[in-house]
Amino acid sequence: MLNADVILEKMKNQKINYDRVLQKMIIEWQKNDERPRILLHSCCAPCSTYTLEFLCQHADVTIFFANSNIHPESEYIRRMLVQKKFIEDFNANTGNHVDLIVDEYKPNEFIQLMVKQDLHKEPEGGKRCEACFNLRLDLVAEKAQELGYDYFGSALTISPKKNSQLINQIGMDIQKIYNTNYLPSDFKKNQGYQRSIEMCREYDVFRQCYCGCIFAAKQQGVNLKEVNEEAKEYIKAYEAENGKLVLNTHDS
Ligand code: SF4
Ligand code: SF4
Repeated sequence: MLNADVILEKMKNQKINYDRVLQKMIIEWQKNDERPRILLHSCCAPCSTYTLEFLCQHADVTIFFANSNIHPESEYIRRMLVQKKFIEDFNANTGNHVDLIVDEYKPNEFIQLMVKQDLHKEPEGGKRCEACFNLRLDLVAEKAQELGYDYFGSALTISPKKNSQLINQIGMDIQKIYNTNYLPSDFKKNQGYQRSIEMCREYDVFRQCYCGCIFAAKQQGVNLKEVNEEAKEYIKAYEAENGKLVLNTHDS
């Protein structure tokens, strides 16, 4: 499968437009009559909406929900359930077969890692977020290698609040240590972000009010008690309809 390095090499000395890199890769897939398998990280449904609509035209996509950064646990479960429901509705509407893999939830590991590196006081968008992207993209790459996916990538490049240059640089670095390729992207381009807002309306997708970790929530003054109560209500309603949930949690 084509590695993005081949395209980046030809674009030397240009500011990297990762959307253009992806478009070039897609042209190569089409030339070679390839339909790659992609493992795509997402941390709740909004960023996965347009991303799936776009990518499913060219590839078979599985969403990997690996987000031990999310606090509290009830909110983590709620976001995972919203992601699951969006995928089910998307598949039913479009005839696609997107899968979902949910990783283990290890919140203490995330918190300890951030505190140990003294990143807990960093502002949102700073070094803590860099470490957080690194951690999650590394997990996606590892899982993609384990399960034989052609590419690993991130839906987060659709968000205008996230530094997509940084996410792509981290992805390009991580692919050097795994036997799988990074999928560069900037999904917000070509009206991607606008389309994600429309799709959230069409699919009635819940949009959270903070990025996920306890540190950002506190800095932002989010009422975590309220978040917890609302999330628990959501889970209760889900369990009433679908039976008890079993969560894949592990913390040493
Ligand atoms: S970046 Fe924000 S909106 Fe996008 S999937 Fe993650 S939590 Fe949701
Ligand atoms: S603000 Fe978001 S990206 Fe940054 S560390 Fe917290 S959860 Fe991760």
